[in-house]
Amino acid sequence: MNLTILGCHSATPTASAHPTAQVLEMKGHLFLIDCGEGTQVQLRKYKVKFSRIKHIFISHLHGDHFFGLPGLISTFLLLGREAELHVYGPKGIKEAILLLLKLGKTYTNYPLYFHELEETSPQIIFEDDKLSVETIPLAHRVYTNGFFFKEKPDERKLNVEAARKLNIDLSYYNKIKQGFDVEDKTGKLIPNNDITFDPPPTKSYAYCSDTAYNPEMIPQIEGATVLYHESTFLEEHHHLCEKTKHSTAKEAAVIAKKAKVGTLILGHYSGRYGNLELFRKEAQEVFENVDLAEDGKRFSF
Ligand SMILES: [Zn+2]
Repeated sequence: MNLTILGCHSATPTASAHPTAQVLEMKGHLFLIDCGEGTQVQLRKYKVKFSRIKHIFISHLHGDHFFGLPGLISTFLLLGREAELHVYGPKGIKEAILLLLKLGKTYTNYPLYFHELEETSPQIIFEDDKLSVETIPLAHRVYTNGFFFKEKPDERKLNVEAARKLNIDLSYYNKIKQGFDVEDKTGKLIPNNDITFDPPPTKSYAYCSDTAYNPEMIPQIEGATVLYHESTFLEEHHHLCEKTKHSTAKEAAVIAKKAKVGTLILGHYSGRYGNLELFRKEAQEVFENVDLAEDGKRFSF
């Protein structure tokens, strides 16, 4: 599981601070999560292959999370894309994008599908045999979802040595891999666990931006390998969270601790702070394993 941060700053873009966008590589997929202004330039800068992006997840319709989408969609067109593109986002996103395309008399030559969201409880919005993606309802000024990317367990691996020792016929090996108990040559039932290895533990990534402190998400994301949680402010500006529906670094850390996640990544910093290490310091008073998002930073888990 690899995560590339393309942008992790709130509100207005500057030469050195890009609005929210990130790319998650999981089980062969390359998911684009949010698409702030300039995302396509960041994709080029960090050498992410455009053609590998088939699913784009937009958390909410504030500009710093989706103003890069119309540009990216039209660049795909100019590059001669033929592959399907799926966009998941709040109701209204289809109307907004199609209006821009219509005004420019532009038609995509590739199939473009919108999956509009309006549920306020978690729902699975994408699934295949390797992973699933569910919404994490968030508490922001407009309808907002985080996204929870969860690997599914691989098949158990056959322990050939154990199977041989227990005198199990070769013709049973496929059944064993599928998880069945089988009989040995004397007719005794051998439990599947005795002749297989556990698959590697599954990984998961919870993306939560933007949101006020929202403990309702805790049971859903419990035990996540990684939590990305916005921390727009530090506690000294806590009063700004109420009006803007954002969180502090400390609040993000409380969520991480209560949900018992592996690693917390902070991001969506307000432009008022010069020293981002202050975010780490504040969060680490509550939760030890904290990392800071930075534009261009790659994480592997
Ligand atoms: Zn927002």
